[in-house]
Amino acid sequence: MIRNMKVLFCSSEVTPYAKTGGLADVSAALPDELLRQGVECPVVMPLYQEVKAMGLPLAHLDEIPVLTGTGINQVHVYRHDNTYFIDSSPLFDRMGLYSYAGSDYPDNLERFALFSRACVELARIMGDVDVVHCNDWQTALVIAYLKALDIEGIRSVFTIHNLAYQGAFDPSLWPMLFLPREYFHPECMEFFGRINIMKAGIVFADAVNTVSPTYAREIQTPEYGSGLDGLLRSVAGKLTGIANGIDTRAWDPGSDPLIDKPYSWGDLSGKDDCKNALQEMFSLDRRAVPLFGLISRLVEQKGIDLVIEAIPAVIALGAQIVVLGNGNPGFERRLAELQRAFPGKLGIHVGFDETKAHAIEAGADFFLMPSRFEPCGLNQMISMRYGTIPIVTGVGGLKDTVTAYGEGDCPFGLRVSSPAVEALLDAVRFACRIYGQDKDLLDAMKKNAMSRDVSWAVPAGEYSRLYCNLKDFEERSR
Ligand code: ADP
Repeated sequence: MIRNMKVLFCSSEVTPYAKTGGLADVSAALPDELLRQGVECPVVMPLYQEVKAMGLPLAHLDEIPVLTGTGINQVHVYRHDNTYFIDSSPLFDRMGLYSYAGSDYPDNLERFALFSRACVELARIMGDVDVVHCNDWQTALVIAYLKALDIEGIRSVFTIHNLAYQGAFDPSLWPMLFLPREYFHPECMEFFGRINIMKAGIVFADAVNTVSPTYAREIQTPEYGSGLDGLLRSVAGKLTGIANGIDTRAWDPGSDPLIDKPYSWGDLSGKDDCKNALQEMFSLDRRAVPLFGLISRLVEQKGIDLVIEAIPAVIALGAQIVVLGNGNPGFERRLAELQRAFPGKLGIHVGFDETKAHAIEAGADFFLMPSRFEPCGLNQMISMRYGTIPIVTGVGGLKDTVTAYGEGDCPFGLRVSSPAVEALLDAVRFACRIYGQDKDLLDAMKKNAMSRDVSWAVPAGEYSRLYCNLKDFEERSR
């Protein structure tokens, strides 16, 4: 009998349980779509304090001993729907996922080593896992443990969602990992004298991918490789790029309960109501002026410094801006100061807020995303779905997913020619001109954006093929 392929999807964040960025969205929507396409894809994540606080009816499945460098740890395994939770209260029952008050937890290595080792035990208990799919450094050790423990029959995929975060730790912590000493070597998990967890995923995985074809090429260059470009070039034969999709059910202007009025490709009138509601939400003047939105982690990667510098000039053009984000305390402070300087024109919310994110996507005319690098980016695709014109640089996934005006048929975005303030302002000025003088072009671009397929259907199919190629699946299941 041919059974379904089974992939254990290991992730440190999963929507709706815990989220700091796009990884959480991917970790929910991709397994869902895989399931629809016939791939069994349970997900496993840590049981964080904020998950416990949700009060979900978690089913207790097992208590398992997990051996790491700190000794034997008893962890509990719980389940809710398709998601398994690894509970180790001393390590995960605390505020935040990776950090608190702007500082990374000093025991992050111990936390994610234990989690990764527990994922391996879970795969063993499940007994029929064909592939483990690990994501970013927090779960890269799963693959190292499979190797070290000589576990046969389970193949591995490692996805790089952001090469900038590699999990670098002091070498004195090596014993904590309980891995063979010879793995601490420049051709394996050592990087200039430090432990580098991401390297374990890249070196040991059967297949490595990133979240867009352009980023897969970029990270093999010194400019974008964050020091690992040489290693990535050396594994080019197993390295691919698969652009993400978005959850088109959760992000649907036709049925979104978090927006003021539903609208669709055929009738955009509700979008005007959403704009009015957004202006009210952020105490902006109720005027028909171009409204630029931004939702982001407030970090340099996303070009937030460029936006901050450009804000006075954008407002001088008669436009309005809404920013939702958190992160770098300096950026948070500067944005709050600017808001005081431009009441009624600039709306800022520092924090993580799902409702406001939906309101911005639906209510803004344009979405700013002048990233310096962007592995894939989800917000530009969410914007497209809501008929909000993305204004983006030409890097990584922004290059692959946005057809900008002047770059091809049926354009729906505007390109920022380089991550620089003047280039950003050029694009903003062009946006204001279209808004004021060419409503037909603006409407056509909105409709082009909304008609693009940004669902997971195609990318999930590519993942499915990747797993099958690794496993020669039909052969085994006969
Ligand atoms: P990254 O993963 O690099 O942070 P992405 O564009 O891939 O960037 O994904 C970001 C996701 O997180 C999107 O779903 C976005 O809407 C969401 N997000 C980011 N910051 C916030 C915030 N402050 N409030 C609500 N959602 C946010």
